[in-house]
Amino acid sequence: MTVDHDAGQTTSLYEVGDLPPLGVVPQRMYASVIRPARYGPPLKAFETEVVDVPDVPPGFVLVAVMAAGINYNNVWAGLGRPLDVVKMRQKRGAPEPFHIGGSEGSGIVWKVGEGVRSVKVGDHVVLSGCRWEEDDPAVRLGRDPMLAPSQETWGYELNWGSFAQFTLVADFQCHPKPARLSWVEAACFMLSSATAYRQLNGWPPHNVEAGDVVLIWGGSGGLGSMAIQHVRRMGGRPIAVVSTPERAEYCMRLGAEGVINRTEFDHWGSPPSEGTAEYRRWNEQLRAFGRKIWEVAGEKVSPRIVFEHAGSHTLPTSMFVCAPGGMVVICGATSGYEAHVDLRVLWMRQKRLQGSHFAGLRECRAVTGLAERGLLDPCLGQVYDFDSIGLAHQHMFEGTQACGNLAARVGAMAITT
Ligand code: NDP
Repeated sequence: MTVDHDAGQTTSLYEVGDLPPLGVVPQRMYASVIRPARYGPPLKAFETEVVDVPDVPPGFVLVAVMAAGINYNNVWAGLGRPLDVVKMRQKRGAPEPFHIGGSEGSGIVWKVGEGVRSVKVGDHVVLSGCRWEEDDPAVRLGRDPMLAPSQETWGYELNWGSFAQFTLVADFQCHPKPARLSWVEAACFMLSSATAYRQLNGWPPHNVEAGDVVLIWGGSGGLGSMAIQHVRRMGGRPIAVVSTPERAEYCMRLGAEGVINRTEFDHWGSPPSEGTAEYRRWNEQLRAFGRKIWEVAGEKVSPRIVFEHAGSHTLPTSMFVCAPGGMVVICGATSGYEAHVDLRVLWMRQKRLQGSHFAGLRECRAVTGLAERGLLDPCLGQVYDFDSIGLAHQHMFEGTQACGNLAARVGAMAITT
């Protein structure tokens, strides 16, 4: 234990990787913090600081974080756009002038608030990222809480995420940690796997059915690596898109039926004006991409589902190659959130463009259950130290990250997995 002398007061502070005795809560903690004055690329935005450990209100749980998963949402938080998360919370009366990100993680329940019965101090848990008010009228009416007005993302819209020694979550965000997984493996897969599960299984009648071709953008990334496995298990035929031969190999090892290297095409983004030579060239590339899917599938069959998250660069292509009556299901916009949609293709071919955002509790339990039974590989890619959380996001921002899901050690600093 070390001692922090702050303004004449003596407060307990443990080094990252050390833990106080079970249930003992120090006053201060290390956190990887974003402040508005540093908004910009991740290496600039994130800095390790010492902050107060938050109080635990009724219904909430303080978790000692062992490891945290890294996701693109905190690239956006660090940039301060499209949403200034600190300003947004301060407008609602939140006092903290900083943001602690991290929308997934693994850890040990350290303190429970009044009324909490679902977990107890000492439980090993995996944390899910979406939160809603339990007295939200929509929730009380039994509607999908992910569609409730009070639903928000912990570690993005909400503060006190997993990039700190202690994190504050609602009790229902705690799920049993799959015993077969290490702390870092358990920390890295909830967000991407449950999001992918909902995209592929949450929008009937477009659930993946046996024999369905599913086109998966970014097949070697966090979402993509989970989607390939889900589609396989559901009896579908995953065709992955990647940008390097190494990523193609990774997808094939995970169970992709085939892979397309997107660097062989260059028609990305919105089409040029119709009637021009540029448009004719763009359109030829678009059709060539569609034919490539048939070539990889070994027959003239188009994807019933297109698994989207790349956004403006890929959406026009996704809408075109999707089979008549099929669905493009999108949960992100890595390449930009303003995208061109040719409405003629949408209505004439009766396609569906469906938004999808993270997952409800049932979907979270489905993926932890699959991991528990060894039916879902968490695809742990690179593991970072606590002080390198900014670097991990920088790699994601630049597109140079390792395949699969990324994680950072927090309490698990002393161990290697
Ligand atoms: P990763 O960085 O792990 O993977 C993204 C992949 O997308 C990369 O591997 C890359 O593969 C591919 N990609 C990047 N740019 C382009 C492009 N211009 N065109 C086509 N493909 C591209 O990220 P995640 O899989 O974790 O997340 C992906 C997106 O989904 C992010 O924007 C994230 O914010 C969002 N997301 C949303 C969630 C939600 O609940 N709404 C939950 C999780 C993620 P390659 O270069 O090999 O093609």
